[in-house]
Amino acid sequence: MASRAGLAESTSSAVAGDLLVVPLGATEQHGPHLPLGTDTIIASALVSDLDAVIAPALPYGSSGEHAGFPGTLSIGRAALEHVLVELARSAAFARVLFVSAHGGNAEPLASAVRALREEGVDARAWSPRWGGDAHAGRTETSLMLALAPELVGSARDPGNIAPLAELMPRLRAEGVRAVSANGVLGDPADASADEGRALLAAARAGLAAFVAGWPAAAPPRAAAPAGDAA
Ligand SMILES: [Zn+2]
Repeated sequence: MASRAGLAESTSSAVAGDLLVVPLGATEQHGPHLPLGTDTIIASALVSDLDAVIAPALPYGSSGEHAGFPGTLSIGRAALEHVLVELARSAAFARVLFVSAHGGNAEPLASAVRALREEGVDARAWSPRWGGDAHAGRTETSLMLALAPELVGSARDPGNIAPLAELMPRLRAEGVRAVSANGVLGDPADASADEGRALLAAARAGLAAFVAGWPAAAPPRAAAPAGDAA
């Protein structure tokens, strides 16, 4: 079904196709039991079956809300938006799709796509809607049990289980630290690999349908002149 060309493993002359997919992750705390790269691992897994050229995942995002936890590395909203705009501008593909598995990336991603589309670049964004709890709880722990169980620790303590909408004002103002001492928003106790596989299958199907509904453009756009040559 899929050509699944990984850009990092391809030569330039072997790159073919009009759709570039860029997975967007984060490097941020995911409680005491999940790795900092959880969102990057999930984003990469979501796109792995797509019939498209897959760019290396961006392992940094906008994670300011997780500041104060060791290991979190954030490039912030403005820098992320700028990175996404420049990446898509530089890409010699007719279509560029960003697939983000980190909620904090949503606003800068939407801004970047808006700016790119105003420039005539056919860029789009897609993010999974898992339902369930918000961060390092049942949902993400299930996904990681399905994808990389060897990276999931045995401590499965609940965090703050209040609905995200209720936590949002304080979360935005003071960060996750203020509402959850262990960094978890939800409860990972009942997470399972089976649930993770089902969530992934549904999300991949949703993403595939999104891509299928996006008309291919021909011929491919020529690369924009490079700004900063390196
Ligand atoms: Zn996450």
